[in-house]
Amino acid sequence: MLSETSPLLRLSQGHLNLLETCPRKFQHTYLEQLNTPLNPEHEEHQTLGSQFHLLMQQREMGLPIDSFLEADTQLKSWMSGFTNAAPEILAPTDSQTFRESEHYRILQTQNYLLTVVYDLFIADSQKAQIIDWKTYPKPPNQRKLENNWQTRLYLYVLAETSNYLPKNISMTYWFVQSEGQPQNITFNYDDIQHQKTAKKLNQLLKKLTNWLADYQRNQPFTQVPKNSNHCNYCHFATRCDRTPASAEHQNNYLPNLVDIQEVSL
Ligand code: SF4
Repeated sequence: MLSETSPLLRLSQGHLNLLETCPRKFQHTYLEQLNTPLNPEHEEHQTLGSQFHLLMQQREMGLPIDSFLEADTQLKSWMSGFTNAAPEILAPTDSQTFRESEHYRILQTQNYLLTVVYDLFIADSQKAQIIDWKTYPKPPNQRKLENNWQTRLYLYVLAETSNYLPKNISMTYWFVQSEGQPQNITFNYDDIQHQKTAKKLNQLLKKLTNWLADYQRNQPFTQVPKNSNHCNYCHFATRCDRTPASAEHQNNYLPNLVDIQEVSL
């Protein structure tokens, strides 16, 4: 067990996704800070995604953004597409409605501090909406997005740290780069989903506590089974003594964009 004086570990949705995918990968990435290199294309995409987030934040704060838009045609096209597709999100709201970009919340659960940052948070006396910008096309697999820890954790933390009932909370992803015009997916929340997430989260965190205790006794975190596809596409394959990704795999490998975290600013 972690000692009473151990600092609380801060966990984001990215950490929970990693932990669920492969505990050993969590060990390498989070505890040992062995970063997985992004290929230049993904790096460029991530930078552009970060710039879009910053732009939306500046806009929400009432700061001028025109010079940034003029300097970058991609950002300009995303912004104009989004303005056309969802004017109601960008329109000023009445004084009874709370709006904040980069809205930060934290929740202590067991020995962990669960942290979330909402790209935009809009709330009135009845309901609360979490908005998240994604600078890639709408993914075809909605179920996968629903089960991603970003969706589960963001909704869960809001319900736990506010007076809103789960049924009055929602989360909407906006995909600014979709074909035609930006598209969105909204996930409504309810008590049943909240209880389900609480159970999953507690199970995962209890496992983490055990893995951490073992790690302190020099026992590495659990690996996924040997025939797992995850190892074929993992940069830690050699370190884990698993078959390294073949050159063909490496070249063809495009990680699921949903799993690539756009850097929050
Ligand atoms: S190679 Fe396999 S076991 Fe090792 S970290 Fe990657 S996914 Fe996990």
